[in-house]
Amino acid sequence: MQNKKVAIITGGSRGIGAATAKLFAKKGYAICINYKTQSTPAQKLTQDILDLGTACIAVQADVSIEEDVNRLFSTVDKELGTVSVLVNNAGMLKPQSKLVDMTADRINEVLINNVTSYFLCSREAVKRMSTSTGGSGGVIVNVSSGAAKSGSPNEYIDYAASKGAIDTLTRGLSLEVASEGIRVNCVRPGLIYTDMHADGGEPNRVQRLESIIPLGRGGQVTEVAEAIYWLASEKSSFSTNNYLDLAGGL
Ligand code: NAP
Repeated sequence: MQNKKVAIITGGSRGIGAATAKLFAKKGYAICINYKTQSTPAQKLTQDILDLGTACIAVQADVSIEEDVNRLFSTVDKELGTVSVLVNNAGMLKPQSKLVDMTADRINEVLINNVTSYFLCSREAVKRMSTSTGGSGGVIVNVSSGAAKSGSPNEYIDYAASKGAIDTLTRGLSLEVASEGIRVNCVRPGLIYTDMHADGGEPNRVQRLESIIPLGRGGQVTEVAEAIYWLASEKSSFSTNNYLDLAGGL
């Protein structure tokens, strides 16, 4: 059944995930685009990738929910074949707020969407990739954030802390599965032009902060996608437990 490599990109319908899905498709991967609620951009991107002559499916699944993650991976098993690259990318943030105004519900929502989701998807990928259970190996790339280092004071410490957890997940899991044919790497984008900033209540946040970025501008989604692709490809075959900052020098 399997004649090409299969990549699952969580949150692959928009922003950084969509650019990553397009790049992997151009490189010959069969693609699974995952999304949470917005089917229109997911269907449009799926058609664009199919038009390239590449296998592609869109799967709705909330990756913070265990049953949805199990369904996402079993759908890929059936329709595309065994996953060889997982890009843990789906993420969210809440309106800018100081910690003193954060509720437990808000904090927990950020943590399950940004942290539990990466754990669950990594678990399902490792089950299928591990050479210790008959798999052929693979690569996981986690999308963290420069916020893991800055802490995002006055904006969203909860989001920043969730990304700090992703750096730690990358470290622990990369060492846990290094002998099982699986590499685990991480990118830390910062201030990329996407819709996510509108969810934080400030659509033009990147433009506001351009003057403090050493390179003098925000980043493009394609610039992050290229780094994700490199960390997943054989070009980086000696790289695991690696963290690539894509934040214009911040
Ligand atoms: P975006 O444009 O807001 O797109 C988010 C994507 O994630 C959408 O496809 C969305 O699906 C999906 N998603 C969100 N929660 C999900 C869930 N629980 N289950 C499944 N899919 C889910 O985001 P982005 O800016 O590209 O960010 C992508 C990643 O990069 C995130 O992890 C983010 O934290 C990280 N990042 C972004 C920046 C930046 O400046 N933009 C900087 C550093 C790190 P729907 O369309 O259905 O909502």
